[in-house]
Amino acid sequence: MSDDHRPIALVMALRGQGITDQRVLSAIERTPREMFVEAPFLSTAYENIALPIACGQTISQPYIVAYMTEILAVERQHRVLEIGTGSGYQAAVLAPLCRMVYTVERHRPLLKSAEARFRALKLHNIVVRHGDGLQGWPEQAPFDRILLAAAVSTIPQALISQLKPGGVLIAPSSGPHEFHRNSQHLVKVVRTDGGATQEKLIAVAFVPMLPGVPQETRKPDENPK
Ligand code: SAH
Repeated sequence: MSDDHRPIALVMALRGQGITDQRVLSAIERTPREMFVEAPFLSTAYENIALPIACGQTISQPYIVAYMTEILAVERQHRVLEIGTGSGYQAAVLAPLCRMVYTVERHRPLLKSAEARFRALKLHNIVVRHGDGLQGWPEQAPFDRILLAAAVSTIPQALISQLKPGGVLIAPSSGPHEFHRNSQHLVKVVRTDGGATQEKLIAVAFVPMLPGVPQETRKPDENPK
């Protein structure tokens, strides 16, 4: 198959798996996943599989990116928070569907590479932050939608409280008693006036959400933050 047909073949596969939202499918079709994977995996960039990226993390399987984006039901005027930028692929798929994507990553090298991709693709409505996404992004809250790209045991209250009323959060969760990569489910949280409702969706396997930011080795001329 020639390279040009790979995004279309991927979209056909996603349709076959039950993704129906045309806006989501066209965002996937137009996002060059080969720009988000590491050189050794270029030939499998459009296969419907997760792939390793730097810092021991993964770029999610396109089906999961499509499914989460569809469930999130993002609208044009929405401001969306993503925790776990990773390669930047999920943020790049969200960007054409909403007003603004705010994305937080704890590994600075991943964030730098993702930012360069956003610039190259002229995705000017994505802003990035280096830090612990478990704290959310209070200065920019409240958000219409929040997407967690790493697994938590319970949905952090700090994030639910950064949702607008009626806002939706989607996250891979292992549940408080089974923190195990093999027993995660996606959970959809809807913020209500009095609290929040939770619904368990499909089984998934995400890398864990880790607290804090990794220690960085700095050059002597850099100012420690
Ligand atoms: N959305 C990404 C998937 C990245 S995998 C993509 O499309 O490629 C999950 C990412 O979450 C990893 O890069 C990991 O470093 C990040 N992560 C884990 N815990 C975090 C935290 N507390 N704050 C911010 N990012 C976190």
